[in-house]
Amino acid sequence: MEIGMTGRNVSRNRIPTIVFNRSFAGRNHAFHGHSPCLTKERQKLLPPIPLIEHLYIHIPFCPNICPYCAFYKESAGRERVETFLDALLRETEVWSQQLRPRTIFFGGGTPSALSVPQFEKLLGGLRSRLDLSLLEEWTIEMNPATVAADKASLLREAGINRVSMGVQSWDDDVLKSLGRTHDADKAEESFRILRRAGFENLSIDLIFGVPGQSLASWRSSLERSLSFAPEHLSAYGLTYEEDTEFFRKLGRGEMAPDEGLEADQFELTAELLGNAGYLQYEVSNYALPGRESLHNSAYWAGRDYLGLGPSAFSTVGPRRWRNIRETGVYSETTLAGKTAVDFEEPVDESLKARERAAFGMRTLRGLSLNDSQPWIAELRNLERDGLVLLSNGSWMLTPRGRLLADTVAETFI
Ligand code: SF4
Repeated sequence: MEIGMTGRNVSRNRIPTIVFNRSFAGRNHAFHGHSPCLTKERQKLLPPIPLIEHLYIHIPFCPNICPYCAFYKESAGRERVETFLDALLRETEVWSQQLRPRTIFFGGGTPSALSVPQFEKLLGGLRSRLDLSLLEEWTIEMNPATVAADKASLLREAGINRVSMGVQSWDDDVLKSLGRTHDADKAEESFRILRRAGFENLSIDLIFGVPGQSLASWRSSLERSLSFAPEHLSAYGLTYEEDTEFFRKLGRGEMAPDEGLEADQFELTAELLGNAGYLQYEVSNYALPGRESLHNSAYWAGRDYLGLGPSAFSTVGPRRWRNIRETGVYSETTLAGKTAVDFEEPVDESLKARERAAFGMRTLRGLSLNDSQPWIAELRNLERDGLVLLSNGSWMLTPRGRLLADTVAETFI
């Protein structure tokens, strides 16, 4: 669910390729999270490890595989899931002393594909291992096809207070071409189930730029979403990711993006949601005032975050790393008491500043004049092209700049 012309989905535990790949060396060696062998004297000499406030948990299972999706996922077998949960809780335990989460995000895959007993095990296990006294936002991504009343109540009672529901479209033909297993009626029922379970912070995810999706179909998806008054909406343009069926179809000439129509759909989104009182606080994300995602905002502000589970990224202090992708290998390795990391790289201050600038420009926060000094000539050029403007001491995207957000981001990388 990523966006091409208008930016990328970084709403979960994913760093956009434009930012990440350049510096990711692809080495394959272990990261040692901490050393239990250090003496007390030696520990005193080391700088304290800061507490990590943002936790991402990757649940890699999907009931079916969508043809456009490149996220790491597998189909769920009962035993495989049980072993994965044991491994995840073991990994949580290793990090528990360094975690004091203000936000938790369950992403995937399809986290909601877990059964009620599996959720009981996971949520109980996390609660007993983590200090959640500072927790403000706990989000789970849910696929409408996997929402049921007992599951929704369990999640709400366990403290999850935000759901991001992957509706994608309210047009059944578009849903079919995206390979989704739910239809619009099921999405509506699921939304109502979540409200009845007590969720007061719901987000609807939509996709535009789908071949065959007219402007009228997109308008009606936006209008139907608004009729449910969600607190938050994400609207991503379809991208053609390598190793997906859509990418292969594109290569064979069986699919063709219509950039003009995509641009119209993007602009219509900003217009309709803006008129309805939603703030476009990031290029692809809209919220009612005060309902911006805290977890995603932390990524965009360049805060440290820890990712647990297969393929999850973490950035803590001067390091970034990624866990093993294959769930079986991740589980086996973690349960054997070894590190699950398969790549790591140093993240120096210059890279952090560039990432903060690239992400910041995508948000309403913008980039302060002070922080923008290394790129001032480039920003003046972008200003001449009508892509950015200086407002109240910060550089911001213009409406045209939002449409070409990836181009602007390249300035900083
Ligand atoms: S359900 Fe979500 S994560 Fe799973 S294949 Fe489909 S789009 Fe990808």
